[in-house]
This record gives sequence, structure tokens and C-alpha cells, in this order.
Amino acid sequence: MVTGGDQFDFDFIVIGSGFGGSVSTLRLTEKGYRVAVLEMGRRWAPHCLPRSSWHIHRWLWRPSLGLHGFFNMRMFRHATIFHGCAVGGGSITYAATLLAAPDQVWHSGSWRGLVDWTAEMPTHYQTAAGMLGVTENKILGTADHLLKYTGDATECGHTFYRTRVGILQSCDGNTVNQQVPDPFFGGEGPPRATCTGCGGCMMGCRYGAKNTLDLNYLYLAEKKGARIFPETKVVDVRPLTPSDDGLSGYKVLAVKSTSWMRRQPQQFTCRGIVFSASALGTMELLFRLRESGSLPGISRTLGKHVRTNSESIIGARVPQCADDLSQGIAIGSGIYIDEHTHIEAVRYPNGSDVMGLLTTMLTDGQPGPRRIGLWAKNIVSSLIFHPMQTLRLFRLWGWARESTILLCMQALEGHIEMRWQRRWFWPFRKMLSSYGDKVPTYIPKANQFARKFAGIAGGTGMSMLPEILFDVPGTAHCIGGCVIADSPEGGVVDSHHRVFGYRNMYICDGSVLAANLGVNPSLTITALSERAMSFIPLASETRWNDTALWHRVRSTA
Ligand SMILES: Cc1cc2nc3c(=O)[nH]c(=O)nc-3n(C[C@H](O)[C@H](O)[C@H](O)COP(=O)(O)OP(=O)(O)OC[C@H]3O[C@@H](n4cnc5c(N)ncnc54)[C@H](O)[C@@H]3O)c2cc1C
Ligand code: SF4
Repeated sequence: MVTGGDQFDFDFIVIGSGFGGSVSTLRLTEKGYRVAVLEMGRRWAPHCLPRSSWHIHRWLWRPSLGLHGFFNMRMFRHATIFHGCAVGGGSITYAATLLAAPDQVWHSGSWRGLVDWTAEMPTHYQTAAGMLGVTENKILGTADHLLKYTGDATECGHTFYRTRVGILQSCDGNTVNQQVPDPFFGGEGPPRATCTGCGGCMMGCRYGAKNTLDLNYLYLAEKKGARIFPETKVVDVRPLTPSDDGLSGYKVLAVKSTSWMRRQPQQFTCRGIVFSASALGTMELLFRLRESGSLPGISRTLGKHVRTNSESIIGARVPQCADDLSQGIAIGSGIYIDEHTHIEAVRYPNGSDVMGLLTTMLTDGQPGPRRIGLWAKNIVSSLIFHPMQTLRLFRLWGWARESTILLCMQALEGHIEMRWQRRWFWPFRKMLSSYGDKVPTYIPKANQFARKFAGIAGGTGMSMLPEILFDVPGTAHCIGGCVIADSPEGGVVDSHHRVFGYRNMYICDGSVLAANLGVNPSLTITALSERAMSFIPLASETRWNDTALWHRVRSTA
């Protein structure tokens, strides 16, 4: 029987330091637990962040190719998934838009009816918003004004709003980079600086104005004693006593993620564990551990109900635009073009033109050969009738300065499934692969909106090349796969985020979300993690082997 003491390296190990992981780390540390965070990505200081996306080795994460940045792109048959990888998880590369999900999302999916979400969540949203310093955007750039004009011209201008963001701005919205003492935590937090409106949030904020997790949750947690191990990738988690359910604690094996040859394996022991490796990371790790026999009791629903927020990325490019469309904050404003469909104005900073490789001329039509044919025809006729304009449209140089991305999200139901399989093109090892109905890459209303936007701006509409050629949408909002449910037949965790079948094991990240939110998910992930942590007793009151604290349901495996 485990009764306590220091025979474990840590009380809790948190895997991943994104939104869910950072909340878990701080709240567990505050409750008196000894906490370690094992994070695959690097730790970043503002001055080390890349100046533009051309500094690919500092931007992209692909250690096998020597790329040690913080932004990762994974291609699947149903979606190209963008996600972050760093101390601070997705917060280093995210656009800092922090919106609460509309109430209707709690009434669909496998979490429906488990608790009174609409009554419980507002408190946790409030805590999350306070910690992340959410405020209304005061800096509108040309792209935001264009969004409003387009809304007015399409009769949805009244739904235009300034985004709520986790960015420190000066009171009057001026864009001077002013150094200030900690404005958020009564002097406990780090000194900060105000936003310059450079549009660079997704390349990492070099000014210290974006409220990344290393400046709030993780900063405070480290101050209170939590330990963060960067560049440390978890490859195995198993109960200390083989074949038990975690009662005896866990053994965690990790390797150095940035080293290819000398991987420096490290072993840790702990009593409890929190998986916070993001939807994709947690699914991948749990599939591997279930398959290897380390955690055979993980629910068979693992990988089901993966959602992409039904996103489609379109936009407009205005060659030789008089204004710099990259100015403002990365996502400065949004608009609802109908009750389910929401569009945000997004930008990369001047000089970060690499994303231009993925964009092309806006093309309508249902996916397939006909859409590809139409796309080719549009390009050829445009080259014949407007050769200079067309060439300028495809020129990579100047793309960020002349372009606005329109990120379209829908709160409609729809999901895919991830399985752990060998693929015909790489039979040497198993990997995640996607199945199910295709996520729509063509949302007619959104294309019409992009065309109108481009017309008003004096430019040309843009589509994403993979959406046209391969019918694969891009998404930065992959969620689900380990969803909250009432039993292991419905999901992987219960409404307190406890993993079915194991003791003292939790999941706190985007993988537990059980519905498409229709808005950016980070605030909801943070709020849900705050809620999950609120149920964990103080370290001094915990009885690790108390079955009453452990969920009744055993594995279905
Ligand atoms: C370019 C971009 C812009 C975005 N903009 C917004 C936005 O404006 N608003 C918004 O709400 N959302 C935005 N998102 C999405 C947001 O970043 C994610 O939804 C959010 O970060 C998910 O939080 P999480 O806690 O699930 O995990 P993450 O924040 O993704 O953190 C997971 C961490 O786990 C680590 N990890 C994974 N596997 C392992 C392992 N085996 N061992 C150790 N560590 C591991 C990863 O390196 C990562 O750091 C954006 C995403 C991108 C890519
Ligand atoms: S707009 Fe520039 S200064 Fe402001 S938060 Fe984003 S990167 Fe930082």
C-alpha cells in the first residue's frame, strides 16, 4: 500500500506545458504537491524568437531535420493540423484570441448532461481570463477595417467585434513598446512591455507583450517550486507495479527530444500523472502506451470524436497595397456571417512570407477533379488577361504585407477518427491516421465573403492550395480524441478529467473537448483545466490509495 513519503521523485508529473499543462502545474503546486513538467519543446526568450518565418530552423519543429522551432504542421488525409511545441505549448505561436464558447456547445457531444456546464463554467472562464489577462483588442489595423466594411456590404456588419485577446496593450491603444512592472499578479509576475501592433504574434512575440503561459501560469508555478524539464519527450508511462491500475504510482520514461543520436533516457517516478500533450500529442502517446502494454486499460474510444472546429482558411491578397495589411495584432477582429459561421481577420508580420507557399487563387466548387480543373482554368485565363497582376499575386516576396487570411470556423457537429496503424507508404511503424467523413473544404458563403473582401480591398481572393488540390483543410484547432463522457464506452475521461481504468491519472488539454466550439479553443481548455484541478484535494489531505477518490469505472479493454 502506498501511504506517502518521498519514495517518489515527484507527486505529479505533467506531460506537456500548454494551456492544460500550465494550469495543472500551477494549481497542483499551489496545493502543496511536488510537480514536474516534462515538455518536448524548447524554452524561448523573446530575443531568441525568429524575426520572420524565413528563419525556418527557429520557427518549425521537426527535430529529425534539425529544425528546433515551436510550430509544427502534421498532414493527415482529413486535415493538415498546425500546433505549437515549446515551454508554454501552443501559447508561444498562437494568436492570443481568447473567446468563451457559446452555451450551445455544452448541450451536444458526450459531455451533454453530465454536469450543469452552463452554471459551472462561467466561474472557471473568469479565472482563466484573469490569469491570461484577457482584454478587448484596442489596435485595429487596415485588415480589421476591411472586415467591417465587407460585413456592412454583406449585411452582417452589426456582428463585427474586436477580438478579446491575451495581449498587454497600453491604455489608449497606442503602439509604443513601453516597459512596465508586472501588471497582472500584484508584483508576483514578471515585468512586461506593451504591444506594438506588429502583427507578429504567431511568430512568437519578440516584445514580451503577448501573455504567453511562461509569463503567467508557468512563471508563478516555477516560483512556487514546480520544475520544468524542456526538450524532454515522454515515451513511456506505466504503473510501478506491473498490471495494477496506478495505485502503486507510475514510472515515466523520457528522452531528449532535440537530440537524434544521444537521446539521454531519463526515468522518473510519481504518484499521479496529468497528460497535457495536446489533442494530437496525448492521443499519439496513449495509443502507443495501450499498444505496448504499458497502459492496456485505456478506453477503446481513444481517437474517436476528433474535431477540427470545421475550419476553412481563405483570404485576400492586395498586390502593391498602399497600406501594410500585416499591421495590427494577429487576429484583431471577427464577424458572424450567419449563426453558425464565424470569420476572423488574421495576419502574419511583414516579412513572414513563407505561408504564401500554401495559398493560391480563390476557387469555388465541390472538391475533386472539377474544382482542380476550375482552379487551373482560372489561373491560365488570369495569366492571359492580367499577366502582371497574376504574377504579382503569386510572388512570395511581400505576401504577409499584402495579405489578410480569413479564418472561417463553424460550430456545426462533425468529427473524424484517428487510428493507430501502419500505412502502405510507411509500413515500418504505426502512426496516427485519420478516418471518417471529409471535413468540408468549401464553404460557399465564406468564399463569397472572401471575394467581396478582396473586391473592396482592390485585390484577389485566396484559397489554401492543399484544400483545392487534395481536399484537405488546414486547422490550428484540433480537439477531442480523449473526450469527456459518463463511461469508458463513451470516452476516455470522466467529468473530473480522470482517466477511466486508472488511478490518479488525468487528462487536461484539448483532447477532452467533446464538441466543436466554433471559436478558438484555448480559453475553454484553460477554463476546463481550472475546473478539473479544483476537484483535487490539498496535498496534506490526499489519501492516494483511497478508492472513494478514485473513479468507480474500470476499463472496458
Ligand atoms: C498558429 C496557431 C495560432 C493559434 N491561435 C490561436 C488563438 O488565437 N486562440 C486560440 O484559442 N487558439 C489558438 N491556437 C490553438 C491553440 O494553440 C491550441 O488550441 C492550444 O495550444 C491547445 O492547448 P493544449 O493544452 O491542448 O496543448 P498545447 O498548448 O498544444 O501544448 C501541448 C504541449 O505538449 C507537448 N508535448 C506533446 N507530446 C509530448 C510528449 N510526448 N512529451 C512531452 N511533451 C509533449 C508539446 O510540445 C506542447 O508544448 C493556435 C494554434 C496555432 C498553431
Ligand atoms: S502584435 Fe507584435 S507586439 Fe503585439 S503581441 Fe503580437 S507580436 Fe507582440
